[in-house]
Amino acid sequence: MSAAIEFRNVGKRYLGEAYAVLRDVSFAIEEGEFVCIIGPSGCGKTTVLKLIAGLDAPTIGKVRKPKSVSMSFQSGALFPWLTVSENVALGLRARKMPDLEVAHHVEAQLRAVDMLHFHAKFPADLSGGQRQRVGIARALAVEPSALLLDEPFSALDPKTTAELHRDLLSIWHARRMTIVMVSHLIEEAVGLADRVILMREGRIDAEFPIALPHPRHEQGEAFMREVQQIRRKFFT
Ligand code: ADP
Ligand code: MG
Repeated sequence: MSAAIEFRNVGKRYLGEAYAVLRDVSFAIEEGEFVCIIGPSGCGKTTVLKLIAGLDAPTIGKVRKPKSVSMSFQSGALFPWLTVSENVALGLRARKMPDLEVAHHVEAQLRAVDMLHFHAKFPADLSGGQRQRVGIARALAVEPSALLLDEPFSALDPKTTAELHRDLLSIWHARRMTIVMVSHLIEEAVGLADRVILMREGRIDAEFPIALPHPRHEQGEAFMREVQQIRRKFFT
């Protein structure tokens, strides 16, 4: 069996920097798996995503990249001068898809994230949660085999975050793409992922498979046990 994404003894040192930000990182992610990477600020989470996306290259070691990949950043990172529809259409136009087909795809993606009503709005007229929905629609529009999310919900209120978690899980269940999501919240990671990878100072500290069925109940005993187990490791 071959993994969708694999790191083998990966090290990364940014040009001109004295210290490696990733050291001997090895892991494999299966096709269709949902993995959350957590760890303190500066431990190298975003760097891992950039290497998966091919936005940067490792200094040493090997990275197997997914067949096709989309990355969505915090706050959606939309282009403010384009409407919601135009933002979602960007990647499709770049692939020279005919206009009619683009329109059809954009409509389907916006419906999947419940944003069809807002297709003609500009990002400035949307809430943070709505912008994040559009960012996810844009990432999904090109039908990537892997979706990379970098702390996508960190600036949102708890209710909006819970709604987006639900939507993300239903999209993942329907399409079964591989998802790698960076989070700094243990509860969020345990609520969503098949597996949680804990990083510390450029290394993988521990991995936790989460076997709980969806939807997961944050107040449930099994859920709390997983959170506690990760929290203990996180804070030692
Ligand atoms: P995280 O996402 O876990 O907060 P990052 O992967 O963004 O961590 O960064 C890891 C370390 O690498 C940090 O110390 C950061 O300052 C450094 N770093 C990130 N990007 C660059 C860059 N382009 N050049 C030099 N150092 C960088
Ligand atoms: Mg980061």
